[in-house]
Parts: sequence; C-alpha cells; structure tokens
Amino acid sequence: MLGTILHGPRDVRCEEVPEPRIQKPTDAVIRLSASCVCGSDMWPFRGLNEVTQPMAMGHEYCGVVEEVGSAVTTVKPGQFVVGSFCLSDNTCPHCRRGFQSSCVQREFMSGAQAPRARVPLADGTLVATETLPPDDLIPSLLAVSDVLGTGWYAADAARVEPGSTVAVVGDGAVGLMGVLAAKEMGAARIFAMSRHEARQNLALEFGATDIVTERGEAGVEAIKRLTNGVGADSVLECVGTREAMMQAIEAARPGAMVGYVGVPHGVELDGQWLFFSQRGLLGGPAPVRRFLPHLIDLVLTRKIDPGKVFDLKIPLADVAEGYRAMDERRAIKTLLQV
Ligand SMILES: [Zn+2]
Repeated sequence: MLGTILHGPRDVRCEEVPEPRIQKPTDAVIRLSASCVCGSDMWPFRGLNEVTQPMAMGHEYCGVVEEVGSAVTTVKPGQFVVGSFCLSDNTCPHCRRGFQSSCVQREFMSGAQAPRARVPLADGTLVATETLPPDDLIPSLLAVSDVLGTGWYAADAARVEPGSTVAVVGDGAVGLMGVLAAKEMGAARIFAMSRHEARQNLALEFGATDIVTERGEAGVEAIKRLTNGVGADSVLECVGTREAMMQAIEAARPGAMVGYVGVPHGVELDGQWLFFSQRGLLGGPAPVRRFLPHLIDLVLTRKIDPGKVFDLKIPLADVAEGYRAMDERRAIKTLLQV
C-alpha cells in the first residue's frame, strides 16, 4: 500500500510501505476514513527535530476496525473507532487519573498518513461509536483524535470556567480548537491572538469575542488593556516557542493557569521569575483518551463542527503539497483522502 515517509528536512514522500498487520495480541488494524497532517509534523519537516532514519508519518486517525489481536475485547471488526495519538492501556494509575498520555505503557501512534494502520493497545486507546457515522462527520471525528483533543486539553488544563476570560496564544489549528473548547466550557470572553485574516475569521466562528493582533510585549499589554489591567483568568499556549510561552504566562493574571500544548522548542524559564509571577503551568501531550467519549458525542450530535479547521483536502498521493501548504501557512490544516 501507499504511505507517508519523511526522509529528511522538507523531503516527505508518498511511497510503497509494508501493509500493517497484527504484531501483538493487544493490536488492532484499522482502515482509515481519512487522515491529516499535524502542526507537530512541521517540526521534523522543517528540520527542527532531527530525522535520523525514515519516519512513517501520521498519528491522527479514525476509521473502521479490520482485524484485532487475540487479547482485544472492547472493539471488533466492522466498528467505527476514533483513537488518540497517544496509545495507552487506560488501566494504569496515570490512565485512571485521566493522564493517559503518561500511561506506563505509553507509545505514540505512527504510520497513520496511509489507508490502513496498526493501533497498539487497542482496548485502551480506541473508542467505538454505536453505528457507522455519516460521511460528512468524518473530518470532525478525525479532528477529535488529536487537534481538538489537544485544544480541549489546553482549555481543561488552563481551568476554563463558565464566565471566565480566556486568552489563546497561537492561531494554528490547535489554537483555533482551543477557542472552540473555551467557548464550549462557557468562557464569557475569548481573546484570540492572530494576525492572519482567515484564521481570525475562523476563530470568531468558533467563539472568539476579540481578536488581538499584537504580539510579545504589545500582545501582553493588549490583553491587560482588555481585562482592566488584571490579565486573563486562563491562558492557552498553543505554539511552543519561547516568545509564545512568555506571552502566555505574562498575559495570565496571578493565580491563573496556563495550559500549554505547543511542544516547547527553546523555552527556558527563570525559577525566581516564575515563583514571583504566581501563575500555574500544566501542559504536555494531551490525554485525548480522557475526552474522547465526550468529544465524539458533541460531534455526533452536531453541537460542534471542528472539521471546519481543515481548509485543504487533497489525496494522500499529494501529501508533500499538504506539508508545504502548512509550512508556508497557506493552509491551516490538511486533510488527506486515503
Ligand atoms: Zn496506562
């Protein structure tokens, strides 16, 4: 079959790869309904993460189970499933606490930019729907697998509450999903920090009340101005650069939580500065598994439409263009038809 392999910086190819198969009794093999390119795929694509050997790309997925290993009991062939990009057993102490992305058996999904994929730890990772969903909901169900789950976690970690004020740093797909999550959680004001018109419009559609175009110090000043000098009750950091992290912490009011889900690159914090700033930080890879049942339900009942975040839909064979479009910020997020 065809699959997506990253050979080195800016060298991603759709090429012949081995068919996935059951390797352990806890595995499942699924036929994907669609796949997509993640913002985090940009780090190795841009050469900011070293690529030492060809990497099978893709960790966002939903589709129909084709085959399960002998130990799998909760999903069966023919069922439609959504899984998390973090593979987890969902039984260890960290899983039971809702931090499946720190599972003692944690693995990361790979090879999902392809028509079929192997999902290890199928019982703990996959959630099945009662019936096959209609085709028009596939993009939104795919979004649940990572980008929405991650934006949702940012809002959850930042303790967004009904009536609160929320600042979202980053207008990539995750940031936009963070806006949607904050809106669903009842935030009264949502400041989306963006200077890109198409993304501003989508942020407004997802529930942002204000657009802040300033960045860095000026961005922090703008949030302060909009909150009578106080700072935001919750801040979502969805980029991962030093500037974005500093902006997020400084835009938060004392006592606030910053939910940070951008993978940090070059972020260093001074201990004393953090001590006196009196803001809390919780982030890391999102425990999407915790949110899957709720988010799938919100999609199936058409209460949310996160699939709108895919503004480029192309065949898997054109995956390289999908990466380039995101790299050059011509696309917010690329859906791959498999
Ligand atoms: Zn676990």
